[in-house]
Amino acid sequence: MNGAEHIESMLRRRGLRVTPQRLAIMQFLHGNTDHPTADDIYQAAKQKHPSISLNTVYKTLEAFEEADLVWRFAVGQKQKFHYDPNTTPHPHVTCIRCGNVDDVTGKAGDLKDAARSLAKDDGYEVLRVEVNIIALCPDCRSG
Ligand SMILES: [Zn+2]
Ligand SMILES: [Zn+2]
Repeated sequence: MNGAEHIESMLRRRGLRVTPQRLAIMQFLHGNTDHPTADDIYQAAKQKHPSISLNTVYKTLEAFEEADLVWRFAVGQKQKFHYDPNTTPHPHVTCIRCGNVDDVTGKAGDLKDAARSLAKDDGYEVLRVEVNIIALCPDCRSG
């Protein structure tokens, strides 16, 4: 199965109609750990589909979000939305100066445990886990 076919079946499994625009957007997002904003995604999609509109990008992202293919979260002082194709609970670290968003690796297991024990011991139904650590990234610290 090539990349495009894999993405296509991923969309179909979630009950989404496959369009060239949706394919292009999901191809860009799949495995992407940069936490792009809608504008980043729009710029990338435009390379393949010059006529795509920002509105189409927003609608597509909304459909992906409803199908649990991406997570959307707002961080930073401007509270811009970022999109993450990794929907497994994991914390983020955001640089307060440049706005760069990174995954916090290594500690991700802790969050899964927290979600699990809330559900098991305290009767909550955990829908999603959002943890964002505000920091100064190494680049901004040295700059
Ligand atoms: Zn920074
Ligand atoms: Zn992430």
